[in-house]
Amino acid sequence: MADIIKLLPDHVANQIAAGEVVQRPASVVKELLENAIDAGASTIMLIVRDGGKALIQVVDDGIGMSPTDARLSFERHATSKIQKAEDLFDLNTKGFRGEALASIAAIAHVEMQTKLQAEELGTVLKIEGSKIISQEVGATVTGTSMAVKNLFFNIPARRNFLKSNQVELRHITDEFHRVALAHPNIAFHFHNNGSEMFNLPKSNYRQRIVNIFGAKTNQKLVPVAEETQVVKISGFINKPEFAKKSRGEQFFFVNNRFIKSPYLHHAVVSAFEGVIKPDTYPGYFLYLDVNPASIDINIHPTKTEVKFDDEHTLYAILRSTVKHSLGQFNIVPALDFEQ
Ligand code: ADP
Ligand code: MG
Repeated sequence: MADIIKLLPDHVANQIAAGEVVQRPASVVKELLENAIDAGASTIMLIVRDGGKALIQVVDDGIGMSPTDARLSFERHATSKIQKAEDLFDLNTKGFRGEALASIAAIAHVEMQTKLQAEELGTVLKIEGSKIISQEVGATVTGTSMAVKNLFFNIPARRNFLKSNQVELRHITDEFHRVALAHPNIAFHFHNNGSEMFNLPKSNYRQRIVNIFGAKTNQKLVPVAEETQVVKISGFINKPEFAKKSRGEQFFFVNNRFIKSPYLHHAVVSAFEGVIKPDTYPGYFLYLDVNPASIDINIHPTKTEVKFDDEHTLYAILRSTVKHSLGQFNIVPALDFEQ
């Protein structure tokens, strides 16, 4: 029998992986913002054009990369964030899969400018469809700028599948909110088609929520705080009177990473039972801090799901903590103006 199995060339493997990591422009925004955060940036700028179809650029003032790292960063499974399997259980970075840049470069035109603080000159690197077009000495600003143009240029089916610029921009904005809410200690700027969408100074959690969702939000927020051996919970719930028919302002962050969890959502909603109308949803911004060893974030390439060691305990703690905050708020209405 003839052997028929072959290893796929890298650029094909990258393109396949890209299908999982990059669903739409907002996925690129998420990956680039997370890389900027992992690089220790204190100010991050997001620039998009045409709903991200023409341009997605993220500029950070983080640590930057050496010329060799600049090139390596586009290789699949190339990462500076983990070295061994055990590191997966002690993650302190957003990234670890070493997949995002390789995936993005497989399906777009990318220009990277990057410079280490200790160096006078940095690197300008162009890569298109996994192919390095040029790498030159240049770039004088410390940090990294990644410009991603013509997303899905080589996958017409995917490009055609994208929604209107307006809809794609909404997805990008959602992603931006999630990242910005998780990191109030970082300043964020967001420009769309040349106009400023957000200018978020460094602040605290409450102020960041208010800066994103508007001054009126401040009076809605009731603080939540609990610390047990399993989890530290902080953040805010919206007062019951602001519950909405539509879902919207509902955010869970686990170790400063936005996650979706129908199970934990249920814990919060059930705590509101009896105080809001049955067909309405409470708003919440809840930050859960747990031991990194007690969760698995490597469930899905986009890392928006988490497996908790002890989900049931977490559910119970969350539910009673939210109930407690609601109770306090009812008894002492002025409480929510503290903090
Ligand atoms: P991961 O984030 O999972 O490590 P990526 O493909 O997103 O994988 O990035 C690969 C590597 O490139 C990172 O581990 C990091 O070393 C480097 N890198 C990417 N973006 C930046 C950035 N903005 N600043 C500094 N280094 C970066
Ligand atoms: Mg990354």
